[in-house]
Amino acid sequence: MIHFDNSYARLPQGFFTRTHPTPVRDPQLVALNRPLAERLGLDADWLASPEGIAMLAGNALPEGAEPIAQAYAGHQFGGFVPQLGDGRAVLLGEVVAPDGARFDIQLKGAGPTPFSRRGDGRAWLGPVLREYLVSEFMAACGIPTTRALAAVATGEQVIRETLLPGAVLTRVAASHIRVGTFEFYAARGDRDRLQLLADHVIGRHYPAAADAGELLEAVVARQAATIAGWMALGFIHGVMNTDNMAVSGETIDYGPCAFMDEYRPDKVFSSIDAHGRYAWREQPNIAVWNLAQLASCLVPLMGNDDAAVERATRIVHGFPEIYQREWLARFAAKLGISDPRPEDRALVERLLTLMAEARADFTRSFAGLSDGTARAELADPAGFDAWVVDWQARLAGLADAQAVMAAANPRRIPRNHRIEAVIAAARDGDYAPFHALDAALREPLQDRPEWDSFALAPRPEELVQRTFCGT
Ligand code: AMP
Ligand code: MG
Repeated sequence: MIHFDNSYARLPQGFFTRTHPTPVRDPQLVALNRPLAERLGLDADWLASPEGIAMLAGNALPEGAEPIAQAYAGHQFGGFVPQLGDGRAVLLGEVVAPDGARFDIQLKGAGPTPFSRRGDGRAWLGPVLREYLVSEFMAACGIPTTRALAAVATGEQVIRETLLPGAVLTRVAASHIRVGTFEFYAARGDRDRLQLLADHVIGRHYPAAADAGELLEAVVARQAATIAGWMALGFIHGVMNTDNMAVSGETIDYGPCAFMDEYRPDKVFSSIDAHGRYAWREQPNIAVWNLAQLASCLVPLMGNDDAAVERATRIVHGFPEIYQREWLARFAAKLGISDPRPEDRALVERLLTLMAEARADFTRSFAGLSDGTARAELADPAGFDAWVVDWQARLAGLADAQAVMAAANPRRIPRNHRIEAVIAAARDGDYAPFHALDAALREPLQDRPEWDSFALAPRPEELVQRTFCGT
């Protein structure tokens, strides 16, 4: 049993289309996130029962579900597409957790919807397991993100370049409302629905916001913090289109995302990002670009005059200051500094420059600051030694430096070659590597002998250079 309370489905016509998940042949539960079920107030044993699995596969609709596909638009690689929408996802409804927090329960890969265009509405097992592992790792690191409640293999094949096993991911989010959702109504000049949407988002995510301007301010602040969190993990989203940016501030739509092994600020993995628009170092700039699109959508609700444009512009221009503060807090903590000062930025930058010159492993370099192994990651030991002198001088007197570092530097990340090995095994029906990696990533700050190998950088022949959308 699930108690749904579907606030989005109560919005008027035009926000979504009622649709149904398409049943699958032979659903098998691959993964169930019991801690998340508990956090949501859902009965994990029921979810793992045949009835629960039928729901997670889209084969049965629980009482109270009001399945819909949400409409949205979006700028994809800078070009506006007025009509996107959930083409392979069905929102079952919303649940209110015991602590009062509201969450969407969405099936991703649940079959075609009126927004599917030429797509089949399905997902294959690979991207489902990737999103499960990566989104849960992000959550374990305290980065705002959508979550993965379950993964179900469908027993059906999907047609991509080849036939691949199908799967459905149950995604949980504070909401799936995107910058592109606002763009959908703004592009149509639908001021009434724009206002309804803004009111809905304010009520749901930013109850302290008094108007659309304060809503924009709140989204800017949340996104600035989220992106700083990505940067501190070496995370590259890969497709920061405005339809893949949630107004809640949660990281959403894990496609060709990846974590860097060797540190290269211009790193790009996505096979479709030919010009590096969404490279690691570009992410804060792209966030501002996306938020400027949101700002133009909100101007009509802010008075629609020169003063509104000025106010919206000022708010978006507030991003860098918040971002820089969040960035410094995160990167200073990675060095063991809990009370960052402006001059600490130079200390961080010097280390990053040394790391970039050496193509040092991003995660191992920071984790190795605690135990002295960082030096081995760097090509210029003399430069590093000189840096260490200044770093140690800064740490002098900071009693908690080791603890601060230990809390800020994950021992392991979802490395691409590990994820690909998990997917290869899963295609052969062996889910043990998936479960082992999932367990190791849920406690990213802990060391355990059986997890040691997950902390290793890929050997040259294991290195993954490209990731794919996996649609
Ligand atoms: P994405 O690049 O995954 O963010 O998706 C962009 C748009 O394409 C969204 O509107 C998706 O719903 C849609 N889409 C992606 N894959 C599929 C698919 N297999 N079937 C139908 N629609 C899809
Ligand atoms: Mg998307």
